[in-house]
Amino acid sequence: MSPVALCLVSVLQHVEGFADRQAAEAVRGRIDWKYALGLELTDPGFDYSVLSEFRARLVEHELGMRVFDAVIECCDAAGLLERDGRVRTDSTVVLAGVRWLNRLEFCGETVRSALEAIAAAEPDWLAERISGQQVERYGKPVDNWRLPKKAVDRNKRLRQFAKDGFWLLDQCAADARGPGAALADLEAVSVLRRVWGQQFERCGGRIVVRTADDLPPSEEVVVSPFDIDARYSVKRGQSWNGYKAHLSEACEPGYPHVIVGVYTTDATVPDLSCTEPITRQLRARGLRPRTHFVDQGYVAAYHLVREAASGTVLHGPIRGDWSTTKGADVLFKPTDFVVDEPTRTVTCPAGQRSTGWSVRIGDNGTPYANVSFPVGVCRPCPLRAKCTRANMDKNQRGRGLKVMLGAYRKAMLERRAEQETEPWRESYKQRSGVEGAISQATGRIGMRRCKYRSLDKTALQHILGATAMNFIRVNAWRCGYRSETTRTTHLARLQLQTQT
Ligand code: SF4
Repeated sequence: MSPVALCLVSVLQHVEGFADRQAAEAVRGRIDWKYALGLELTDPGFDYSVLSEFRARLVEHELGMRVFDAVIECCDAAGLLERDGRVRTDSTVVLAGVRWLNRLEFCGETVRSALEAIAAAEPDWLAERISGQQVERYGKPVDNWRLPKKAVDRNKRLRQFAKDGFWLLDQCAADARGPGAALADLEAVSVLRRVWGQQFERCGGRIVVRTADDLPPSEEVVVSPFDIDARYSVKRGQSWNGYKAHLSEACEPGYPHVIVGVYTTDATVPDLSCTEPITRQLRARGLRPRTHFVDQGYVAAYHLVREAASGTVLHGPIRGDWSTTKGADVLFKPTDFVVDEPTRTVTCPAGQRSTGWSVRIGDNGTPYANVSFPVGVCRPCPLRAKCTRANMDKNQRGRGLKVMLGAYRKAMLERRAEQETEPWRESYKQRSGVEGAISQATGRIGMRRCKYRSLDKTALQHILGATAMNFIRVNAWRCGYRSETTRTTHLARLQLQTQT
């Protein structure tokens, strides 16, 4: 099969929601698929395993985005895309294609998968070393319903898993001149080593189970031995293991809403860190949106400044970026402090002037000043309870502030002012249309769940899914269907008629 034909099959299977076997069957038996692929009616097609091999090659050579770009170029050539038009972006949760495991199951499964890999690679080597009890313990998948119920017994079992994991790693290390050295490089054994480094510690001969406070940050913690790129995250009270998909949709009036960008990250990457990669991707594709609609999660002052310098208005509300706004309902708002950059001073709500001002450059290149007020003024201040929760008696320091400077501060203040105005809010309503794209991606294309394991393969799934969405959208546009406006219910319509 030609790579182009396999690309087309890979996209069509996302349009139809087919698994590999169903797609291969459709190539063999459906006349419309044969017509699209330019095959003879008698063509026997191919074995379904060709598709997974093809995807592996796309991932290996980082060619997945070529499929998406080719469709964008076709849309552009057909006049279906405004290159400097409007674009809107949003993200959605993607669940990893692995079972959610509690800590006990996770550790047991990590040992079991390493033993399985070794049993397949060097059965004799393992048979010489493994005990009957271990075979019984790891002979079947480690399921919660088979594990002890009492906390004390579960803790004992966790330590047993830890002991077995370290035993296996030690056995591989001790056999440096035999097969053990090669076994230590098996992927499942490497995962075991990495997971054990995160979950346990050996102090002398003792095994210590790390507490939640002692674990590495969630962007590093492996949550399943079967997908080591998936990460645990929480958003608005909703927790999941997996990834995030960011979709950008063209929304210029008079054109179809083509998906112009797709970007995949692990679940812990905040939207704020994705604004620049997304816009960079759009520009690399020759698209420089005039206006880019995003929600608050994507907007920081440095994005506003940099996007404006590139000719794009990043149209989204900005959130407060002062560091001391905890319990903002009772504390003073940042705007209650008057900043005077030329004199390098800040005046607080009590009318006191700051004395400290040291300029720093943040990780994202934003200049800011660390401002401080004298402790002798702040400690007896009657407004202190409304101003800060810092323990000045203990710290011997007055109120501190972090103040953004220069063009970044100006952009932030201007956006804060304009986002309160009615015309701005009215134009911002265009962002909400992207929810339709997210709905189609998750509902019709199945982007909510990973079909494959690892970040690279999940990203490829999203690229193929987004290309499939463009097939559906362009086809609908060519058939005369146009995007629905927000529906008005019969009751609301009745109310409008009554009012008029
Ligand atoms: S606590 Fe210090 S900074 Fe805050 S209002 Fe009082 S004097 Fe001003």
